[in-house]
Amino acid sequence: MNPVEVIRKKRNGETLSKGELEAFITGYVRSEIPDYQMSAFLMAVYFRGMTDEETSTFTEAMLHSGEVINLSAIPGIKVDKHSTGGVGDKVSLILAPIVAACGVPVPMISGRGLGHTGGTLDKLESIPGFRTDLSVDEYKRLVAEVGAALIGQTQQVAPADKKMYALRDVTATVESIPLIAGSIMSKKLAEGIDALVLDVKTGNGAFMRTYEDSVALAKTLVSIGTAVGKKTVGFITDMNQPLGYAVGNWLEVLEAVECLRGRMLPDLEEVTYVLGGAMLHLGGKVPSIEEGMKQCQSAVRSGKAYEKFVEIVERQRGDIGFIEQPSRYPQPKCSSEVKSSRSGYVHRFESMRIGILAAELGAGRQKVDDAIDPKAGIVLRKKLGDDVHTGETLAIIHTDRQHIIDHARNVLESCIHIADSSVPRQSRIYASVDERGVTPWTARVQC
Ligand code: URA
Repeated sequence: MNPVEVIRKKRNGETLSKGELEAFITGYVRSEIPDYQMSAFLMAVYFRGMTDEETSTFTEAMLHSGEVINLSAIPGIKVDKHSTGGVGDKVSLILAPIVAACGVPVPMISGRGLGHTGGTLDKLESIPGFRTDLSVDEYKRLVAEVGAALIGQTQQVAPADKKMYALRDVTATVESIPLIAGSIMSKKLAEGIDALVLDVKTGNGAFMRTYEDSVALAKTLVSIGTAVGKKTVGFITDMNQPLGYAVGNWLEVLEAVECLRGRMLPDLEEVTYVLGGAMLHLGGKVPSIEEGMKQCQSAVRSGKAYEKFVEIVERQRGDIGFIEQPSRYPQPKCSSEVKSSRSGYVHRFESMRIGILAAELGAGRQKVDDAIDPKAGIVLRKKLGDDVHTGETLAIIHTDRQHIIDHARNVLESCIHIADSSVPRQSRIYASVDERGVTPWTARVQC
């Protein structure tokens, strides 16, 4: 296989063969193909796309770039959830302990922040001591003994995605259906799951901005999962505003902990319980998603979900003292309020710009090897449709980068649009997607 020829073919919109795709991925993982050639390939795929067949072959090549973990010795149907990425999306931190507390094992291999979106690994690693780089044996032991393990890709598991994910982040090649599908499904199929729930975000803070593109992505993900015999269901969920209020790693952990302690925020509650209900349903615990949603709610109300979170943190060597006494956590050098210059209603958030700003404050990366500042980020005080008075606080910025604080305040103010009229509050769940097709979402949990 000649890498230049593979890049040229894709650049010209031709279809690549199984052999070419497999050899290109294998060559990259073995470092025989350098980053600059992979970058060119990714950009060609970004512009030219892939056929369905190419996408499945590409995903399989990424999956088999490492070990495919076998969890069949662990009793129960193992179910994971994956999000296509959003701003303030701390759902995995809340969901994994809830579902594990309800008796469905959750093996979860997550990613780092990508583009303007945060990553579960970065959030977990903001808990001092928390280890996400567990060996496959430790991971298996935790799934068996605790009921959940949240780890990152190792050199053994989906190494192709580990390398390509970091490269896509810094080469503006994230927003591509075949690349997202290959990335998500290779990781997920490698982790030993029996079933998968996908949270496919749509809106101005998502990689797929339109409903149609999000449905197309969900269908691709569901068909890859179903084709390899894993029950897979996707939900199209709203990302036109950050989830919850906090954007930034440690800030999001604190918000997730509040939810697990029973002080659920309405939007996080809705998304978490619907995805959790679906996980319990696929896990064979309940006859319907709605029944599963009720069980998720009971796990939070009884305190079992929080206890499970503490167990996960402790078993992954995180220092629970910081969760119990957050005042012990290092404080940012600068915390600055952004106030409203007018009265009205929050009409629109520019969610992607908010995510990019959080990264600039230190919560994300500009380059592959940038260090994250776990305490950096933004805490919003408003949701879409809320009323606002002149001088009221819209958000608080936390950062050590004092030199960008004026710029950050201006950017953030320009990301929160206030108008004279309110916008109606909507469900954050638009539709579910499974092998039978797309169904508008109408169920509601009675809280
Ligand atoms: N999440 C992933 O794991 N990969 C992507 O490409 C996008 C979101």
